[in-house]
Amino acid sequence: MEDLQSALAARGLTVSTLPEKGRCLVTTRDFSSGDVIISQEPYASVPNNSPVSSRCDGCFASSNLKKCSACQVVWYCGSTCQKSEWKLHRLECQVLLGLDNDKRKSITPSIRLMVKLYLRRKLQGDQAIPATATDNYSLVEALVSHMSDIDEKQLVLYAQMANLVNLILQWPDINIKEIAENFSKLACNAHTICDSELKPLGTGLYPVVSIINHSCLPNSVLVFEEKMAVVRAVEPIPKGTEVLISYIETAGSTATRQKALKEQYLFTCTCSRCIKVGLKEDIQENAILEGYRCKNDMCKGFLLRDSDNKAFICQQCGHVRDKEEIRKIASEVKSLSDKASISLSSGNYLEASSMYKTIEQLQMKLSHSLSVNLMRTRETLLKILMELKDWRGALHYCRLTITVYQRVYPAIHPLLGLQYYTCGKLEWLLEETENAIESLTKAIDILRITHGTNTPFIKELLLKLEEARAEAAYKTRSAKSWD
Ligand SMILES: [Zn+2]
Ligand SMILES: [Zn+2]
Ligand SMILES: [Zn+2]
Ligand SMILES: [Zn+2]
Repeated sequence: MEDLQSALAARGLTVSTLPEKGRCLVTTRDFSSGDVIISQEPYASVPNNSPVSSRCDGCFASSNLKKCSACQVVWYCGSTCQKSEWKLHRLECQVLLGLDNDKRKSITPSIRLMVKLYLRRKLQGDQAIPATATDNYSLVEALVSHMSDIDEKQLVLYAQMANLVNLILQWPDINIKEIAENFSKLACNAHTICDSELKPLGTGLYPVVSIINHSCLPNSVLVFEEKMAVVRAVEPIPKGTEVLISYIETAGSTATRQKALKEQYLFTCTCSRCIKVGLKEDIQENAILEGYRCKNDMCKGFLLRDSDNKAFICQQCGHVRDKEEIRKIASEVKSLSDKASISLSSGNYLEASSMYKTIEQLQMKLSHSLSVNLMRTRETLLKILMELKDWRGALHYCRLTITVYQRVYPAIHPLLGLQYYTCGKLEWLLEETENAIESLTKAIDILRITHGTNTPFIKELLLKLEEARAEAAYKTRSAKSWD
């Protein structure tokens, strides 16, 4: 702990304890928007491999993969990654080879993550690989496990998983109860590793990053550069402030956010957004995000339940919507959504696009125009139309989602930046050069803060903007020469 404190002090950080939250990370100097607060390689990590999709264990790349010829479980993109992972995989490979074929191939990413965690601990214990102040097993021991809050069913599952890990490792002095507790630690502390566009690639345990608590309106953001976790300030953070990131998708009502945090992370959020629960402002916000629209087409009002719970009343014009009428449309949306998601997951994009368009029409009758549910349908339509290479249609939905993103996310949020980026790319494809320049500029203004300026991802974005500017300048010149 002392070692950790001095390593953090050099970065302008300290670990403090708050009575209601436990450990937290606090700044000891001022940070500017876009500054890296902390970065960390994982203590252990695994790609989300499945029988249908695989990634390199070293860098999570998905192309040019070769299987480890001995165990046939782990994939590598080449000898560089294989070498960098070898010290640990050599041990893993041995224990995997002790299993019969079927069992070896059925090992899930979570089981592998735990096996790798123990192997890394062993390697550091044997001093085969170095341990440092920010990279050692005692940091894993210090993580919260919330064992007393977990229900019986989950405990049984963790015990079964722990038995499997024990069976794989076959170490005489291993503590099965401790493995089970570590599964609980992973559930509330491990992070989903995403690419620059926030697509999930794998899971990693970052014990120092895990000290950072959650807020639904955070001052920092967690992104990944390959497997490295990078936390950046999204607003100026003065000395003496708690560093906060968001553990969940924050576009949702207070009840939805609180439910997600309780279910996965087992705590009740008391952030600056959540403490407003029950206040007029919060009720109005929730009714817009997840509630219904006014029957009057011209009215943008939001609806609240009447006192005997039979209808919803527009708070702006007083129009009444019958509960039964709402229920009917909602159940139609539900049954269509089930079918649509099946045709989407089977890759039937044409059918899926027409189904989601019908859902969109129904939701436009049902939900407020700024509702999250309608936004989700439009995000899905955007993805489908991109698959179908319908750039015009995709741009239409991209722009509609941005209108809602601007409301539900803070001004500096990676999802808003990425959506501007998509918008800019589509405008570029459709030769709307001026619009593309505007969208790409907005994307850069956000993503240079959330993602830094040095990654290949941002460099590519900057290059696209340059290209669009050059094209615009060329068009202006040739237009002039025609005058
Ligand atoms: Zn690799
Ligand atoms: Zn192997
Ligand atoms: Zn909150
Ligand atoms: Zn109204």
